[in-house]
Amino acid sequence: MTDVRRAIPSVSTLLDSAGIRALFDVAPRTLVVDAVRDVVSRVRDGARAAPEDEEEWTRAVTERLAASHRPSLRPVINATGVVLHTNLGRAPLAPSALDAVAAVASGYSNLEYDLAAGTRGSRYEHCAGLLRELTGAEDALVVNNCAAALVLALNTIASGREAVLSRGELVEIGGSFRIHEIMEKSGARLREVGATNRTHLADYARAVGPSTGVLLKVHRSNFAVAGYTAEVEPRALVPLAREHDIPILHDLGSGLLIPLDDIGLSGEPTARDALAAGATIVVMSGDKLLGGPQAGLILGAERFIAAMRANPLARSYRVDKMTLAALEATLALYRDPDIARREIPTLAMLGASIETVRGRAQRCAAAIRSAGVECELVDTVASVGAGAFPTAELLSVALALAGDAERWSAALRAADPAVVGRVQDGRLLLDMRTVPDESVAALIAAVGTARE
Ligand SMILES: *Cc1c(COP(=O)(O)O)cnc(C)c1O
Repeated sequence: MTDVRRAIPSVSTLLDSAGIRALFDVAPRTLVVDAVRDVVSRVRDGARAAPEDEEEWTRAVTERLAASHRPSLRPVINATGVVLHTNLGRAPLAPSALDAVAAVASGYSNLEYDLAAGTRGSRYEHCAGLLRELTGAEDALVVNNCAAALVLALNTIASGREAVLSRGELVEIGGSFRIHEIMEKSGARLREVGATNRTHLADYARAVGPSTGVLLKVHRSNFAVAGYTAEVEPRALVPLAREHDIPILHDLGSGLLIPLDDIGLSGEPTARDALAAGATIVVMSGDKLLGGPQAGLILGAERFIAAMRANPLARSYRVDKMTLAALEATLALYRDPDIARREIPTLAMLGASIETVRGRAQRCAAAIRSAGVECELVDTVASVGAGAFPTAELLSVALALAGDAERWSAALRAADPAVVGRVQDGRLLLDMRTVPDESVAALIAAVGTARE
């Protein structure tokens, strides 16, 4: 037996010590016992150094107990420079969206109640009017996410029939979401046309027949094709679709409600553009570029949307009141595009000038240095994320912390709130484009506590 092991007190000895007995006043006995057992077993396994005296044991158990009280899901400061980071919860919500969530979630609401008539209403009414107004769609339906929107649309429109899709759009979005696998689950049969790099209208025309249910267009999202390429725009598919009376379903992925050319993000259609170009149904996410809660928006022809609403699958993809409240408040900001760009956090981050980001980085660096941590400013390239504008490069500025990058990463991930940066060339970078001004003080405090 090593010296360390011999020095480990038994669980019952520790539970008898005054410091640990005091913890029974602040936490249930079973949790205290679990915390003691946990610390003892980690010391035994060599996962942590053995506390030297009773006071140190008490501190170790108290820390363990506090950690067990911390919620599993908690706030994180995103210093990665990826604005829409799927692992970090995608879009932060606008203040008015947060207020709307609190207002409906803290009490009862008219979620499925028609206040004018005093009868049962439908949850699907709540965002439909705003979506029609903002996109020109005949009708709209909100479900749990874009993946659900796609399955519901395909299942309703093309179950048992073929969905014609270019081989260049057979994408994997991430997190095991692959278009052909989703399609199989929806009951539609995939009919691949064209080649990976080039697909022509004639390829679609040859594939269309009595068993065709839908012409599908899918946004490539997380990659770009360059070189010898050709694809068919939805607009060019319209005559073929009309001739055979087949709907066109366009999965926009991230999806825009307003153009973002003025902040350097161009080349993507808005939902309104996609519908005007002839898509029968458009689907898009609520928590990507739109900047709202996780949701899937289905926009387009009334008769198909009515059929989707009546599809029993819709029940399993339905959204709750908090989502609808956040989405409605976010959509309302789009009535004035300038307000949307200012108030919706993701749009504000994407649109912030490099001078704004640099100024924030300079203030942050000064505070960190005066706390005794060496750091320097480096020019970086931030990105949009979530499969939107995959090749766009957003100029940004990061703080590079002096010292072991892996140690800094681990220590900042353990901070409260946790800070997630990125390691580059052996240094930890904290990209300031994705850290809003309101989080700067917390970031500085986290660096202060995480230093050696
Ligand atoms: C992101 C994405 C989806 C999935 O959206 P979720 O809202 O995450 O379900 C579907 N299709 C495309 C093209 C996407 O980019």
